[in-house]
Amino acid sequence: MKLAFFSTKSYDKEFFDPYHKQEIDLKYFEVRLYKDTADLTKGYDGVCVFVHDDLDEETLAILAENKVKFVVLRCAGFNNVNLAAAAKYDIKVYRVPAYSPEAVAEHAVALILTLNRKTHKAYNRIREGNFSLERLRGFNLHGKTVGVIGTGKIGSIFAKNMTGFGCKIIAYDKFENKEIIEQGGTYVSFEKLLEQSDIISLHCPLNPETKHIINKESFKLMKDGMMLINTSRGPLINTVDTIEALKSGKLGYLGIDVYEQEEQLFFKDLSESVIKDDIIARLISFPNVLITAHQGFLTKEALQQIAEVTIQNIKDFKAEKETNNQLKV
Ligand code: NAD
Repeated sequence: MKLAFFSTKSYDKEFFDPYHKQEIDLKYFEVRLYKDTADLTKGYDGVCVFVHDDLDEETLAILAENKVKFVVLRCAGFNNVNLAAAAKYDIKVYRVPAYSPEAVAEHAVALILTLNRKTHKAYNRIREGNFSLERLRGFNLHGKTVGVIGTGKIGSIFAKNMTGFGCKIIAYDKFENKEIIEQGGTYVSFEKLLEQSDIISLHCPLNPETKHIINKESFKLMKDGMMLINTSRGPLINTVDTIEALKSGKLGYLGIDVYEQEEQLFFKDLSESVIKDDIIARLISFPNVLITAHQGFLTKEALQQIAEVTIQNIKDFKAEKETNNQLKV
């Protein structure tokens, strides 16, 4: 079995190298997979991809021509794969549905704590010999209302973590998760969640229904000065509307690990380049915005699980075994 591995980073190699030659013949490519790089798949049985690889109809047609038979995603989200086209070309698609949901939930908590208590600013100040406390005031999390949108694996762990701080949890999801109720949380309508929350954290998937679920209409319902956290997918929030909400003070804090146009920026070192994306440049300019570059998943435990499950998915493909990790239209 030969596998073409796209969007490779050093941490991928660290966790996949032990399987090379043992389980599978791996070839690492640093480039992302999309229509212009799809020719690289010639001679491979399968491809291994991540969140920014683009498996649209055109790319999948090239993969089929090159006799690629399967796609293994090193992630849970699959909004970047045209499943109907994959089925048409008889290319099987697998994902890693859960890999340490604690990793992403804990990153959301890290964004909240950093934005609130400004430890990133204090760290820089102290290194420059500035021991002043001016403009470092935060607020107690204890007693605050946290709204969780999407209470699946990550959202429910996040809710539990915030319960530990003494927060009141309100949640919105299409399906209720009994763990939220057992932890003392309450399900409310989407509108009530917007109206009552001091902090809102997004943990639902990106699909046509959730695209721009946070927009100028939702900001109108929110409390003044509230905090918005997005570790899920960038297009859940309308970034232009979010910038207006930051300018007016409606939004007091924004913490994002994902961004609408992140494909052009994230996972790259652009420190010597001119950033051409004016929207992210504006976001970066706000003192109350904290951006991380899609690192929620980046823990040792999560990477280990991603590698193990991906290799198992390949074995299941080889054995023609039916599995829940296989994505169907
Ligand atoms: P999950 O499938 O366990 O949970 C998603 C929840 O969202 C489900 O309960 C579902 O019912 C709910 N949902 C679906 N449509 C909804 C809607 N319209 N309104 C409200 N809720 C809705 O997924 P998960 O494992 O908890 O992951 C959540 C998201 O986190 C993923 O879709 C992915 O985009 C993101 N993620 C980010 C990172 C990162 O590194 N930042 C890593 C992994 C996953």
